[in-house]
Amino acid sequence: MIRFRAQVRGIVQGVGFRPFLYREAIAHNLSGFVKNTSFGVYLEVEGSLADCEAFFTVLQTTPPPLSRITDVERSEIPVTREQGFSIRQSSSGEKSALVSPDIGICDDCKRELFSANDRRYRYPFINCTNCGPRFSIVNDVPYDRVNTSMAGFVQCPPCQHEYENPLDRRFHAQPNACAVCGPRLSFLVDGVEQKGDPVDLFAAFIRSGKIVAVKGIGGFHLACDATNESAVNQLRARKQRYEKPFALMLRSLDEVERYCIVSDEERALLTSPQKPIVLLQTHSEALLAPSVAPGNRRLGVMLPYTPLHCLLLEATPALVLTSGNISDCPMLYHDNAIPSALASLADAILTHNRPIVRRVDDSVFIVSLGSARPLRRARGWAPEPLPLKGGARPILAMGAQQKNTFCLVRKEQAFLSSHVGDLDDPETEAEYLREIASMQRLFSIQPEMVVCDLHPDYVSTRLAHKSGLPLLAVQHHHAHFASVLAEHDVDSPALGFIWDGTGYGTDGTIWGGETLFGNVAQSERIGHILPFRLFGGESAVREPWRIALSVAEIALGRAEALSLFPSRAAEARLLLQASDAGLNAPQTTSMGRLFDAVAAICNLRETVSFEGQAAILLEQIADASEQETYRFDLKHEQDGWIYDWRPVIKHAILDAAKGVPAEKISMRFHRSLAKLLLDTAAEHRRETGCSTIALSGGCFQNELLLSLCHSELTQAGFSVLINRLVPCNDGGISYGQAAVAAALQTK
Ligand code: ZN
Ligand code: ZN
Ligand code: FE
Repeated sequence: MIRFRAQVRGIVQGVGFRPFLYREAIAHNLSGFVKNTSFGVYLEVEGSLADCEAFFTVLQTTPPPLSRITDVERSEIPVTREQGFSIRQSSSGEKSALVSPDIGICDDCKRELFSANDRRYRYPFINCTNCGPRFSIVNDVPYDRVNTSMAGFVQCPPCQHEYENPLDRRFHAQPNACAVCGPRLSFLVDGVEQKGDPVDLFAAFIRSGKIVAVKGIGGFHLACDATNESAVNQLRARKQRYEKPFALMLRSLDEVERYCIVSDEERALLTSPQKPIVLLQTHSEALLAPSVAPGNRRLGVMLPYTPLHCLLLEATPALVLTSGNISDCPMLYHDNAIPSALASLADAILTHNRPIVRRVDDSVFIVSLGSARPLRRARGWAPEPLPLKGGARPILAMGAQQKNTFCLVRKEQAFLSSHVGDLDDPETEAEYLREIASMQRLFSIQPEMVVCDLHPDYVSTRLAHKSGLPLLAVQHHHAHFASVLAEHDVDSPALGFIWDGTGYGTDGTIWGGETLFGNVAQSERIGHILPFRLFGGESAVREPWRIALSVAEIALGRAEALSLFPSRAAEARLLLQASDAGLNAPQTTSMGRLFDAVAAICNLRETVSFEGQAAILLEQIADASEQETYRFDLKHEQDGWIYDWRPVIKHAILDAAKGVPAEKISMRFHRSLAKLLLDTAAEHRRETGCSTIALSGGCFQNELLLSLCHSELTQAGFSVLINRLVPCNDGGISYGQAAVAAALQTK
């Protein structure tokens, strides 16, 4: 006989871990006990050495699906001759280890949902320890029912019995409920609850082309029939969102394949427990209403992830399911927001009485180079910690301004918040502060330093200065760079190509086409694109033609530039005059804007309704069979490489004038960037021997750019690192900021 004690760390609470250990201990003839502690799970087992070893193997290799073991520390202790195996009460006052993310409905629950003889047949809130809401319902730690928004629902005897039975799939499943004791749906029209089955009412409304607001896991969605053009159009008008693609929820994988090309990796991602939105290439978008994703060759698709969604999709196989808000405001989630805020948006509201504690948006992923990467990390992932080296003292990293997230660090664990959104909105700012306070409490992190962007006007920067904590300001593109290196735990020097729309540079100008050399702690800017002016400042983001005008003037002269957009000649003259006078024409090295310029030169878009729209279009139309390329002039100047785009812009303009199709111009431009990157990397390797390349920044959301750069570089023997855990857009900035602070602490 032998006895072991073990401490298991990670996400091991609220995910069925103790019942799993209980079952395995019994199966392996072991005695002992298990209990939750402040760091995870503590257990002692006693039996034959072979049985103990087999038990620990199972523990490590096939733990419950939602658990994430970060560490098992085991040692031998004296045998006690204990009889039987028990689950012991966790001592009071102890804090829960980690809160699990919200997880999509599991197969067992789905089966029960649709079995006529199950006591939860068609119950829209069915869940178990393997699935259901978590992060979105937690008020406080420890993760017990009283600290969730299920506190108000007292379990009926059968539910209570499941909850207390270690062998039951619902043992200590905090949101456990049934139709007798749990939350219920209601269907409201003009604020008045309607008689009848809410799910049937929903189906009837959707069938008749209406828009219905649906309360989900982390907020309200707006739903309509994705095959009904007038309904989708109506939704666009009400949301005042005219072009940005809408996400779809489709009933099944078969349904997804009717519209989209689905690879094995994409299929795995769609059906994963997290069930994110996956961006897929369409093949038959004509079957859908044209307004779902106008002019877009990709669709954001997800499968039903709550039992309620499963019921709703029965009647309608394809729903538009977009966040319930106006234009770019954050998704509504407070119950008290329902009647007024949703009134102008929806014809009816399908809601329920389980409060949402915090907004959790849908995550958005794309499969690149054969595996998944996040474009928005939220439901299903937040607040699962990410690894982060260094950082002896707790850190709060505030993130950027757009697509904001923040990041709390404690003992090599980085808790990245769910997608917060754009901090321009005062409502979002208030929520941001609430959420920071809430996550500090949940993970008992008392930050001793705060990290922010260099940009003086970011809301996050202003709030960081107000915190009174020791402060570190990290340059935007260095934070992007550090995010990649930290993800891959690389601390040897690397060369980073950080291309995005906007970031505040150390010289006070707007950067965005940067080459950095260094490590997580610090880097040097060793290259950038030739600067140009943003006519009209920030508003140029929505006016790609102005950027084309600006770069065309530099490449070909004023007369040529003015002839590009004859219908805008008067406005163009004014902009040029203002720029001459040094008015409202800040200097930039933004790669994102250079994409906008090329899109405008190709006559794709002169104006856009959201940042990056023209660049997305440019990517999507590119003709992959085109082999020709433009060429940047690579110049070595005092402050490093200057990537002179004048020949590129000149040839693009000449080609467009000659009638070369935009598809070819786009591809030549993309190729020229990959070539530029390879040339720089090769030159730099000759000088320094460095062959590790990091790619980050919002421009690398562009699949074509990413794959061209990746293949050029890997063929030339470089090792290429990209973001796989956090978004390469500004949603990953807070993690990068935290990484810099942690690295500097350890120095
Ligand atoms: Zn389940
Ligand atoms: Zn019940
Ligand atoms: Fe950025």
